[in-house]
Amino acid sequence: MSNCIFCKIVKGEIPAAKVYEGKKFIAFLDISPANKGHALIIPKKHYEKLEEMPDEDGKEFGELQVKIAKAVMKATNAEGFNLLLNNGKAAGQEVMHAHMHIQPRFSSDDFHYKWTHKEYEEGEMQKFQQKIKQFL
Ligand code: AMP
Repeated sequence: MSNCIFCKIVKGEIPAAKVYEGKKFIAFLDISPANKGHALIIPKKHYEKLEEMPDEDGKEFGELQVKIAKAVMKATNAEGFNLLLNNGKAAGQEVMHAHMHIQPRFSSDDFHYKWTHKEYEEGEMQKFQQKIKQFL
């Protein structure tokens, strides 16, 4: 996609600190990191959101998350990491080219993921369980 910043990185039209390049995916450092060493994994093909990615690419995507997270942990001496995929504007996605964040974490760092916990009505959880299962 011509006006997509991540497509431009894939094509080498703008620079990025790449740490991995394969046939279908690349990984590079986030320019404005949550912590230093924060990496992004993106498909080379322009998928706006994760659900547009073919199921068969999911295996490689998942394996890369494990591989790159391990490298980020070693390189940063982090105590933990968060995998984060903001999928869709409602979920906070700003760059509309699907990407997984790998954010190294330290007990001394200054950010927190917080959400208000909802409650299921009686029987509602089972309804969601069945609904989700029917699409798998
Ligand atoms: P999101 O809110 O999940 O869409 O996150 C987009 C991320 O892309 C942000 O963390 C940005 O700092 C990062 N980002 C935007 N432009 C670039 C760029 N040119 N190189 C590296 N990271 C970028």
